[in-house]
Formats: sequence, structure tokens, C-alpha cells
Amino acid sequence: MPKSIDLLLTNAIVLTMDEKFHQYEPGAVAVDGDCIVAAGPEDELKNQYTAKDNLDCGGKVLMPGLVNAHTHAAMTLLRGLADDLRLDVWLLGFMMPVEREFVSPEFVHLGTSLACIEFIRSGVTCFADMYYFEEEAAKATAEIGLRALCSQTVLKFPTPDADSYEKALEASQDFIQRWKGHPLIVPSVAPHAPYTCTEDIIQATIEIATSNDVPLHIHLAETAIEVENSKEEHGMAVIPYVEKHNLFDAKVLAAHCVHVGIDEIHTLHKHKAGVAHNPSSNLKLASGFAPVTEMLEVGLDVGIGTDGSASNNDLDMFEEIRLAALVAKGSSGDPTVVPARTALAMATRLGAKALHMGDITGSLEPGKRADLILVDISPLHNAPRFQRDPEGVYAQLVYASKATDVTDVMVNGQWLMREQRLLTIEEDELLRQANVYAKKIDAFLIEREQSVLSKLIAIGGAMEQESFEVQVKVRVSNPDAIIAGINQPELETLHHRRYHEYDTYFHFDDPAQGQLRYREDEFIDEKGECTNVRYRLTMIGRTRERHFPSDVLLSRSRFIAPAVHSLRFYREYFKPESETFIEKDRLRWRVLFWGIEFYINLDRIDQPDLGTFLEVKSRTWSQRDAENKAELAEKLIAFLGAETEKTVTQDYVEFVAKAE
Ligand SMILES: [Zn+2]
Repeated sequence: MPKSIDLLLTNAIVLTMDEKFHQYEPGAVAVDGDCIVAAGPEDELKNQYTAKDNLDCGGKVLMPGLVNAHTHAAMTLLRGLADDLRLDVWLLGFMMPVEREFVSPEFVHLGTSLACIEFIRSGVTCFADMYYFEEEAAKATAEIGLRALCSQTVLKFPTPDADSYEKALEASQDFIQRWKGHPLIVPSVAPHAPYTCTEDIIQATIEIATSNDVPLHIHLAETAIEVENSKEEHGMAVIPYVEKHNLFDAKVLAAHCVHVGIDEIHTLHKHKAGVAHNPSSNLKLASGFAPVTEMLEVGLDVGIGTDGSASNNDLDMFEEIRLAALVAKGSSGDPTVVPARTALAMATRLGAKALHMGDITGSLEPGKRADLILVDISPLHNAPRFQRDPEGVYAQLVYASKATDVTDVMVNGQWLMREQRLLTIEEDELLRQANVYAKKIDAFLIEREQSVLSKLIAIGGAMEQESFEVQVKVRVSNPDAIIAGINQPELETLHHRRYHEYDTYFHFDDPAQGQLRYREDEFIDEKGECTNVRYRLTMIGRTRERHFPSDVLLSRSRFIAPAVHSLRFYREYFKPESETFIEKDRLRWRVLFWGIEFYINLDRIDQPDLGTFLEVKSRTWSQRDAENKAELAEKLIAFLGAETEKTVTQDYVEFVAKAE
């Protein structure tokens, strides 16, 4: 007696993508409710089942839907915003400032909806997302009917959806509790990366993931710099560092893992972590080549992800699968590695396992949810078809199929696309809204780019209040005499230090923009050894505000921020018109002269060789006070036995401040 079911799909090339890679031609798949009941030869299934609906698949490939193992879906709205940049400049200079300004629940809902359309059209039935306002990402995804691992991001600095990481942690916990058990959405938590989280944050996210028994989604070892910094800061590479902090107590989905050695691959395997390999993103950001072949040999669950569409820039999994196969061959010099069948398994069963969702999706097996697609392999770009080798069909799908060959998509037993017609969402209005956002974001960036200061603020340079600085600088030929002068009892020395300084000045086209100085300060102890290094970024006011008689300089200063990024980052982010480099040895005293605090600097300029300069400085917040201090500064210079008149060092000032 045949069993009655909801749907029987027949006349297909069925690729189950199960562990044994069973395929059936002509094959059939039986679906009842949200589940697959059977996959097998068409004759057999026709005898075993009577279905309410029968679908003749017309000889297309019937296979599990693709699993996009790592993405930031809502970033569809930022696609094409900033490209061909290094990861840090792209992320910290553009993405994060724009996200802080624009990302809202509506933004995430819209962006995720657009991504879902792209996913459906390219045969993706399940994806692993990591973003802000993940509640909205989950809602949009569930409304459209796709399956997703939705991970709420936690970072150590304020995000669009949380002023503090404590709030982000709280939001993650709430989100997970609300969505746990949903038929389509698996909620989870995403500490963004070890370098954007503290140890406490990582600890707290592990606790959230384990206590709720949900996955933990994180970026690990994406760039060589990340690994280098980890070694410098923690004395070990990224994977041992997170292992030490018990990250793998949670069910981890690790995106990237580009820079991992064989020991680290074994560590990931031992802890059953899943890996998301993102070849387009790694290529475009020049992050390197993940050792995918080694990972697969060890037995890691490696999925394939598109990463966000702001860094890819598309969500086309067919392209991604092809790249995964090609990059592995190209980077190893071995064309036999990551064969087509393996690449397709990564995009289906292994991907689902990497998401820790392997029991519900990723292959056409009884008991799994009915997440499946039909792909037409008859178009010209995929013809003719050879049937001698059963592996041939995998090669057709991986090397010649295009996303546009996907004709039908079903998730959880529900059709989302039939004959390339979307059934659960329309795209026209969404596209219009996306363009409204693009206009606003363009305007925001155009305005920001107009000023060096606003660009500095955009990357979160914590800054001091604007202030004035009184400054007298003279060339001296007798440094020892000056030092003797400083040591006279009339001057009270509060503090004395020695530094070696490397200054890079950025000059800009428009002198009104002022200049930026990147300073590396080495503290030198009595033995002449460097004990500490400090990096500072100073925005030096537009021009000297006023020039007093005797060349006392009053400059409108100075926004000082710790330089948390590299010189290279600032160079690529600010794009200065020209640069000046100065290296000097500085003796610095903080003194009281007539009860007023001054800094005295005795600078030996080594590069370029400009000789030794005496500088007397005082910070002030009002113009009147500045005038008093200017007078005193001149007296102090005279007291130290240096002359102010003819010796004021215009050449130095001009050299440094070309813009003036
Ligand atoms: Zn990512």
C-alpha cells in the first residue's frame, strides 16, 4: 500500500550530497510537510508513495539548497560603497563610520530582504549571518521563508545597536531566547573577532552560547597582521589564544581561518569547530589563501561563504564554489585538490555541519528538512552532457553552471521560487528604498571627505578640546650652555625625560585643512635604552593664528589622539598630498618659571640634519592668557641665554609646516 505524502519530485538527476554521494537518474525525492521522506530511483519512489502534488523536474538537477556559511546579509545596502582598500581602512575607515550613522532596524530589515532575494535566485536555502539588530535580520529571513543562523554581533566599542558591549551581550541573550526553537531561524551570538573584543567579552559570549546551546559565530585569523598582532600582544597565534580562553567550549563557526598552521587545524578539528571559507572576500582583500586542502584532509567541516556583499561584492554562491575549487588548485599548484564534488559538498552538507545545522539541512536524506533546488544544466554554456563518469555532473555544476540556472527553490517544504518567479517577496519597491539609502550615504561621505578633522572624528579619534599653544623656537649652537641654564635654581624642574621621536607630517592640498602629525615617541632611559613607545596622532591647526613680535608663535592647536592604527592605515585613509619626515632626539623639561608652567624642549634634529633647536612652549585656552605667556616665553628664552631676534628658525617652521 503506497504511503501518501505531500509532494513527489520526479524525472530529475538527484544528487543527494549525502556522505556516500548517492545519485539517482532518473531520480525522485519524496517530501511530506517540511521534511524529506525519501530520495531514490524514480521507479521505486513512484511505487512507494502517492503524492497530493507531483512535479516533473524535466531532467534538471535536484539537489540540496546551497549553504552560505558566512555573510553579513544587510550589507547589500553598502555594496560598492568603498572598494579596492585594505581591510582595516575599508572596515574602520568606511564601513563602521557609515554603519554607526545609518544602520537601524529598518536598514537591517531592508538589507537582509534584498540579500534573501539574491540568495534565493542563486540557490541558497540557508545562510550564516552576522550583523547588528539581528532580530530584524531574523524577521526578514523568516518572513521570506529562508533558513538562517542569525548571529547578534558583540564588539568592544559602541555599535549601531548597542552603546556598550554590556548592552550588546544583553541583546544577544534576549534575541536568542526569543528565537530559539523557531523552525527556520537558529539564533546565536557573534563576538566579532578576537581583536575587536576583550577577553571578558569573549568569556561572556561563550557563556551565552553554551548556556543556550546555540552556535558561536566569529571571525578568526583572517589576515596575517591579525596573527602577528596576536603573537605580539598575547604571545601566541589567534587559534591557541582563543583556545586558551575556552572559546571551543561553544559550538564555534569560525569565518576565514586563512592564517592557520596544521596544529591549529587539528585544534579546530579536535573541538569540532566549523570553518567558513570565503574565497572572493579573501582574494579581494588580499588576505591570503586558506589551507582548505589540509583542513579537509584532517576532516574539518569547511563550508563556503560569500562574506558580506560590501566586500565581495555579490552573494553568488556558484561563483564562490567555483573559486573555492580554483583557488585551492592555484595556490597549491595541484589541480587534483578540492575536486568539483568536494567543492559542492562544502557548499551543502559540510557547510550545514560547519553551522552546526547538519542534522536538519545540507543533503537530501530522509528526516532532513526539505531544503532543495532545481538547476537546469541544459543551457548552451553547459552543453553537451557526458554521462560516462558519474562525477561529470559535479564538474558541470561547479565549473559551468551559473546562479541564473537555478529555477526552483524550496525551503522547509515551502516553494520560494518556481520557474524563476519569486513567490514570497517582490523586489521593485525594495530596490527603490535601497537607492534612497545610497543617496543619503553618498551625501554623508561627501560631507565627511571635505575636512580632515571630520575624517579624523569619523574613525573615532578621541580628542582633546581645541586649545592654543604659545611656542618660541630658536636655533642654538651651544646645547650644553642651555642645559646649564635650565639647571639654575631660579627654574624649578618638575619633570625631565628624554625621547627619540619619529614624526611624519601629512600635508593636504588645501592649507586650511591643517596638517596631521603621526608621532612615534620612544622613551629613552638613563642608559640610553628605549623603554616604551607611544604613538600619537595630532591634528595641527590650520595656520599660525598670530605672530607676535620676536616671532613667538601662537598656533591654534591641536587635537591629539593616541594613534591606534598604523602609519600605513592613516596614509591610506587620509590620502595626504605630501609628507615630511623628521627624526629627532628630544630632551624635555617641565618647569615653573615665575610660577607659570612651561615645557622646554631641546631638540637635535637628525633627519634632515638641521642642528639643535630650543623650544619653549605653553598651552593656553584664551587669547589674553596667550599674550601674557608669550611675553614670559621670550623672557625664558633670554634667561636660558638664547637669543630670539634674528635666530627664530623660519627654515625649520617652513620645513615642517609647508602648508603655512
Ligand atoms: Zn565576515
